Amino acid sequence: MAARGFAAEMEREKAKQRTRDALLARAKRGHVTGGVVYGYRNVPVFTGSDASGNPIRSHVRQTIADGEARVVRGIYQMFADGHGLKSIAKALNGDGKLQAESDRYFGGARVSPPRKGSGSWAPSCVHAMLKRERYRGKLTWGAFRNTDRGGRTKRRVKQPEDSWVTVEAPDLRIVSEELWHSVEARRQENAHRFTQPTDGTSSAPSSRVSQSLLSGLASCTACGGPIIISGSRKRAQCYGCGYYRNRRPTVCANQLLESIAAVDRRLIREIECTVLTPEARRFTLERAAEIVHDRLRSEPDRLTSLATELAQAKREVENLLRAIESGGAPETLLDRLREKTERVKSLTAEMRAIQSATRISPRNLRQIDRLLEESLKRTGDLLLGDVVRARQALTKLLAGRVQFTPTALADGRGTYRLEAELTLGKMLSPEASSKVHVPDGI
Ligand SMILES: [Zn+2]
Repeated sequence: MAARGFAAEMEREKAKQRTRDALLARAKRGHVTGGVVYGYRNVPVFTGSDASGNPIRSHVRQTIADGEARVVRGIYQMFADGHGLKSIAKALNGDGKLQAESDRYFGGARVSPPRKGSGSWAPSCVHAMLKRERYRGKLTWGAFRNTDRGGRTKRRVKQPEDSWVTVEAPDLRIVSEELWHSVEARRQENAHRFTQPTDGTSSAPSSRVSQSLLSGLASCTACGGPIIISGSRKRAQCYGCGYYRNRRPTVCANQLLESIAAVDRRLIREIECTVLTPEARRFTLERAAEIVHDRLRSEPDRLTSLATELAQAKREVENLLRAIESGGAPETLLDRLREKTERVKSLTAEMRAIQSATRISPRNLRQIDRLLEESLKRTGDLLLGDVVRARQALTKLLAGRVQFTPTALADGRGTYRLEAELTLGKMLSPEASSKVHVPDGI
């Protein structure tokens, strides 16, 4: 009897595994495994027609719905800029008091609510959307599992993170990684604030606008998590690791808090001395010229070999996808798939860089120099201004996120060592330089 029960249990487990594998394979092909999701359209795909001429539906594929995708980006941007869930919901619902926000993020009109739901936008709906990994082009399975209790009752139980399966789905990406991380950092801050005892003196999280230069733009080197406004010391608000704050010390042991004002001042001074100088401009320009020169010299051969390698890598990705669809061992195959997809990405980037560099002439370089001069002056002014503008200026300078490493001072106190990769390339934004090609990599 016990043995039979065990066998039945095994069968159930195997059936569930098969379901998961099948879902995974379908998702990999871009087929829909769930219902309707805001931001996407479900498009049925047909494979021929049956005997009486009716089309046979093979599966449903998800594609980005442009209008809704714009709304999703607006929601993310509004939250990243410091607005709360309630304000966002109100702006979406066309609240007259938030007309300026509505203009800025949603084109000024009332936004029709998701098809499912209460007929208007709710803060909880906005909250759920801000956590949806699908918007950043990632699909995740296995976060929850239905468990059988005595073969009957079902309960959704959260699974440990290392057993989740994540698949890249770049076709579904609506929100950039940069924007996603800004939102993630603010969510960490709020998670902390909601757990604080309310003493009536702190402002409601929904009305607070981010008052630091770096929150959302920085990472903790101890764990890779976001640096957030995470507490205060001697009444000064401080930066700290968001994962230490909101997850648990086992995830990150970095508990250093350092005053926001001090850290921001240090960073701005450093940028002024190293980046906003004529030397830096000259260096950037020389580097641009160098890149152009190198690429022009090596270009014909390199382009051919890149194209060959890219085609090969794409074929391998296709083969892996087929193998995954037909069963096999998903975990190892997925690893290889990830690796190959990365390779395709880097090859494509290199090809694009060469192609962009070969379109640059000496006249372009002079134009780039003029643009740089203007932008640097503007950036310098902005950095010294209010926090919101300074953040925007800084975002243009940063090539990645600012890395915070806790270090000990001689007197035993701690301080953060800051490291950042800066670029002058982003200043020459597409609009500003429509007639100028700027090589990647400067
Ligand atoms: Zn950390």
